[in-house]
Formats: sequence, structure tokens, C-alpha cells
Amino acid sequence: MKTAVIGFPRVGKNRELKFASEKFFKGEINEKELIDTAKSLRKDNWLKQKEAGIDYISVNDFSFYDNVLDVAYLFNIIPERYASLGLGELETYFAMARGYQGNKGNVKALAMKKWFNTNYHYIVPEIDDNADIRLVGDKPVAEFEEAKSLGIDGKVNLIGPFTLLKLARYTGSKNEKDFADALTSEYIKLISNLSDAKADLVQLEEPYLVKDLTTDDIKLFEEIYSKLLSKKGQVKILLQTYFGDIRDIYDNVTKLDFDGIGLDFLEGRKTLELVKTNGFPADKLLFAGLVNGKNIWANNFKTTLETLAELKAATNGGENIVLSTSCSLLHVPYTLDSETKLSKDYTKHFAFAYEKLNELKTIAVLSVASNPDILDDYKYNQSLFTSRVNSKDEAVQKRVAAIKDEDYTRLPDFHTRETIQKEKLSLPLFPTTTIGSFPQTADVRKNRQEFRKGLITEEAYKDFNKKKISECIQLQEEIGFDVLVHGEYERNDMVEYFGEHLDGYVFTEKAWVQSYGTRCVKPPIIWGDVSRKSPITVAWSKYANSCTNKPVKGMLTGPVTILNWSFPREDISIKESTLQIALAIRDEVLDLEANGINIIQIDEAALREKLPLRQSDWYSQYLDWAIPAFRLVHSGVKPETQIHTHMCYSEFTDIIPAIDAMDADVITFEASRSDLQILDSLKANNFKTEVGPGVYDIHSPRVPSVDEIVSALTKMLKRIDDKKLWVNPDCGLKTRGEKETKESLTNLVKAAKVVRNEHVKDA
Ligand code: GLN
Ligand code: ZN
Repeated sequence: MKTAVIGFPRVGKNRELKFASEKFFKGEINEKELIDTAKSLRKDNWLKQKEAGIDYISVNDFSFYDNVLDVAYLFNIIPERYASLGLGELETYFAMARGYQGNKGNVKALAMKKWFNTNYHYIVPEIDDNADIRLVGDKPVAEFEEAKSLGIDGKVNLIGPFTLLKLARYTGSKNEKDFADALTSEYIKLISNLSDAKADLVQLEEPYLVKDLTTDDIKLFEEIYSKLLSKKGQVKILLQTYFGDIRDIYDNVTKLDFDGIGLDFLEGRKTLELVKTNGFPADKLLFAGLVNGKNIWANNFKTTLETLAELKAATNGGENIVLSTSCSLLHVPYTLDSETKLSKDYTKHFAFAYEKLNELKTIAVLSVASNPDILDDYKYNQSLFTSRVNSKDEAVQKRVAAIKDEDYTRLPDFHTRETIQKEKLSLPLFPTTTIGSFPQTADVRKNRQEFRKGLITEEAYKDFNKKKISECIQLQEEIGFDVLVHGEYERNDMVEYFGEHLDGYVFTEKAWVQSYGTRCVKPPIIWGDVSRKSPITVAWSKYANSCTNKPVKGMLTGPVTILNWSFPREDISIKESTLQIALAIRDEVLDLEANGINIIQIDEAALREKLPLRQSDWYSQYLDWAIPAFRLVHSGVKPETQIHTHMCYSEFTDIIPAIDAMDADVITFEASRSDLQILDSLKANNFKTEVGPGVYDIHSPRVPSVDEIVSALTKMLKRIDDKKLWVNPDCGLKTRGEKETKESLTNLVKAAKVVRNEHVKDA
């Protein structure tokens, strides 16, 4: 049985691409040096896969920032405001990704959105009515040739035209249908160029097919592909899907002239059933996604072999089956080799990207053995699933079982609380605040690292952070903020930090995965039942509170986000794990309140992450327990305690009632990149929660002007009740530099004051 990998991580085992890109952005290295780093990373990846014996190795899965942006750029989907800057190629590309502020102009970055149900973010291509779609680059061909020179005959990865059209944002009156024909022709040109370069297989990735599709969608897909496939020439085309099953279009795609179809048998709840009931064409390869590209647990060979056996029976003996990953390995870390601290008792249960290559190979071998269960590889693998050290805690399980219905409801109701809080806090109109973190400068990271390594005492570590906190408070007072934060200097990451203070978690040293651009996160691993050992944030918040007379917001991460940004267990449900975490955070909320913190923010940055891709599953499979889990965290506080929450990205237009049902008092969210569309929806849905739509984009170093913020606020006030509007950036500031942060925040507070004064005059 042959093996395939949908795509490989690209940031580098030691995040080499991230560090090189950052140096390039700062002008510390030149373009050539960045390009050389990229080349050497690609080479490592290819050779690693070749060495592991993988048959179908991807090329063009590399990207300097994002694969969706790559195809947009490749087909000249470059909005005029970037093209007209007159920058070089790579610089134009980066201007679209990160915005540009320099001697040639001043533009914001394109919008960024979550890549389906992952924590990876893609850049949203923007297509206006005048878009001139045509093939202008040769990245896929160049990378194919680069691999070839290393002896690798790669499968060429490309986001497919249908998914590209569906994910793009249309700024004029035209839509996807108007561009389908032109785009398809350009894909055909590219495929022909690949054919000239002697590429054998092109993998067109169409994850959009796992969503609910309309008849129009199906028609559009068929139109694009019947045209494209009729012109494919010598090149074989693999239709690759992932993140779910393709129930709405399975019959249609199996009838089209694809040479292979890649299906996800892990997240695709119905994939196996589809193949069994509807059959699979004998003239196509079936790329069976059975090794999880999203989670880090060792594959259970028994289950996988059982599925393969069923597939073989359903497809004439399985001659055409290629064993594959369920999605790109982009979503898992590189290798367990980098983990030196975790004992083998733990790591033997895991498989990262490199280890998954071996799993693919081993399963492929076992799948053709007559008695796999007598082989050592199989027996060892099965021994992993019989027991795990330190994973059960009966007290935690009992506490979850004892949760009552009323524990999910905060009393009194929202409006009663709102009145009580207004009186108690007496904040001005349009209160100003930030989302929590302040720049994590080199000294902050150094302090944490030295403490971790045992190079400085706990006292020295704490003293340093206290100094940072008091400076941060002072800065916020100087700038004139109404609700202050302590700055989160003690946190490496909003989830890892809490994980480290909870029982039931384990941590890695280098298990980084890409989140956006070259920014990475290091998700902790939920190993067992979760509980809180002792108060986590109370001392820092209390100290910050003692530095000022202004209110200081306590800062916690919510249970759904902690779960969604961790690698979850596979032996109990994610709902059960989330409730365990919710009880732990609930204890922290009550401790903060008891220690004089009157405003507590519980971040749910990643609430939407595990929202099922099919709308029909939203409530029953997810929101029906995720939203109550959030309420469980704050239902025990007094009416005068104000609960904030924060969500990244404004993509909740379609779940506004669920967001309101979180029953927070205030919510802050990203809005600056999406032209405030969300505000209309809030209004239409009678959103009760007070809102702080981010007034500027913190994902880029650009400093917003006072006028720009005033104008954003003025627009907001047309849609939001003046008594409900907060003024804040759109996310935490930890990735930003100190200088730009101070300038941006100063402008933010000035703008709030301008609008406040005008508003008072008008009234
Ligand atoms: N409080 C966190 C911070 O400011 C929130 C981060 C986030 O939403 N991603 O860093
Ligand atoms: Zn955020």
C-alpha cells in the first residue's frame, strides 16, 4: 500500500522561518537570505519524507505567509491599493499579509480568518469588479523543479479554484460565478506549465466541500472541474478534501474525471458510510485520510486496520487505496525528538509530524500482513491503549457529575446587573480599556526564561514582573485609560499559562504549530482529568490593583478556549474535559472577586474554533454545551462584579444569539479588519451585551491616527446604543513593540475623548 502526506509543517523544526521572516521585516537580513532559509527548510522536509519512505510527497506546501494568499497572488488577485505601492514582488505579498506603512504609502493588511475549524488563519483574498485574474507567478513550478533537483518527484499542492472563490471576499457587485471561468482558465494554464515541467500529480485542495453545499455550489464546482479536467492533459489530478465528509457532493465528484480523490475518514463522520453505500470508482485512487493531521496522539493501529479492511471490501480489494493523513500536518508540531524533558511514559503515547510519517509506513506494512496482530509493532501499539499513567482523578469526575442545572445561570438578569454595575463603577461614557497583554519585550521573556531554567530566584522573577506591572499601570494612567490591566507579563501564552497551573496537563518544549503568518503557538496537551491546584492569577491582579485607584480588570482564559487551544484527549469527550476546566476557572473567578477585583475578563478568543463546519451540527454538537460551560465559570459572582469576555475575529455574525447567551456584561472583539459589518448584525439581533468592537488592528505594527479612530467610533455609534459602547484595540498587545503601542493607545484615548466631548455637546 502506498503512502501520502497532504502537506507538511513549514515553519521549521526550530521555527527558522519565523525568525528569518522577522529579521527580514526589521531589515536585519536581505531578501536573498530569507529565500535561502526557505529553501533549506523545504529541502529538510522533502528529504525527511523521502527517508521515511513516503510515496507521495508534497511540493508547494511551503508558504512565506499563507497558502491561500499564495494562490491569490499567483493569479493576480492583488487589490489595487497594494499593487500601486510599486513594491517588489515579495514586498507586495507581505504588504497584503501584514499591511504597509513606509515611504511608499500606508495601507492596512487584508482580512484574516480562521482556516475552517483549525487555529490556523488564512488571508482572505479580496476581489473587486475590475479584478484581472491571470497567472502571473511560477511558485508551484519552481518548487516542483527545486524538489526534482533533489531527486523528489513531488505531488504539487494547490488550493483549488472552488475553495478559493468561496473564501474570497467580493467588494463590488460581482461574485464567485463571475470569476469562475477566468480563474479556471488560469488554473489550466498553470497545470499545463506543470505538465511541461513533467509534474505527474497535482493535488487540488477543496476543503470547502465538507461544508453544507447549495445546489448552486454543486453546479459551480461541476462547471469548474468539468472544464479543468477536460484540459488536464498528461497531468493527474487529485481532488483532496479534509476536515469532514463530502456528503453533499460525493456522487458528483466520483463521476468527474479525477485521477484520485482524497477523503478524511477521521473528521468525516460519514466518509466510510459514503464509500460503502455509494461505492468508489475502480479507475481512481482513493487517498484514505486515516492518520490524524490535527491531533498528537499515537494512531490506534487496530481501529485504522479495521477501517482499511472495510474499505478494501468496499473497493474491490483495495488496490487503489493510498494511505494518507486526514489533513495537512501543518496543524501538528514537527517531532518528538525535540522533547527532552517529558518522560517516555508520556511521549510514547504521542506522534508528531515526523512520527506520523513512520506510522503511515508501519500501517501500510501491517495492512498487507496476513496476521498483523502477531507482529511486534502492532502489539506495542495496542499496549499504549490499555493504560496511561496519572490520567484519572475521581474527585474531579464526581464534581462534574454533581453540576446542577442552576449552576449554569447567573442571577440577577443582565439588565438588573447593568444598572447596579453602572452605579458601582461610575465609568465615563465610552470607557477605554485594552484586551489584556502589553508588549512582551525581550526583557520580559528573558525574566521568564531565566526563572524557568532556575537561573534566578522566584523572588527576583516576581520583583521584575511587579516592576513591569507598576510601570504598565503608570503608563495606562498617563495615557488616561478608564479600566486598567496588569499586562500579562507572567504569561507566555494565554492557554499554556493556565495549563501549567492546572493539574492534568503536560507540556512540550518545542511543539510549535503555526497560527498566522509565521506566528506559532505551543498548545499544551490535556493528559488527564483537570483541576486547579491553587489560585493562579490572584497575586498579580491584586498587586496591580494596589498600584492604582482606577479599576483593574482580572484576566483569565475561558474553558472553551483553553480546550480549543490545547491538544484534547481522545479517550473522553471534549465536553467532559471542558466542564472540568470550567470548574477550575470558576474557582479562580471567585477568588479574584474575593480579593477585590470588580471587573473580570474571561477570554474566549477561540470559542468559534470547534464550531462544526456544517451549520446543522452547530448547536447539537457544540454550542449546546460550550456556551453553558462559559456560564458555569461566572454564574457564582455578585451582581456588581462586571464580567467581560473577549473574542478574536468578528466572525460570529451567524451565532450572535449564542454569544449573547454567554451572558457576559461586556464583550470586546475584532472589528477593524472587517469594516464593521458585524455591528449591523448585533443591532438586528437586539444584542444585549455591552460591546467593545476593536477600533484598530493590532496584528500589524501600523499606528492608527486619532482621526481614523474617531471615524471608526462615529460609525459604530450609528449602530450601537451610546451607553453600551467601549473603546479598545481589537486584541492583546503582546506581539507589538512598545513604541507603536504607546502611540496607538495614546491616539485611542484621545479619540475616545474627542467623541465623548462631541457627544456631550450634541446631547
Ligand atoms: N487577554 C489576552 C491578551 O491580551 C487575549 C489574547 C487573545 O485574544 N488572543 O493577550
Ligand atoms: Zn483577541
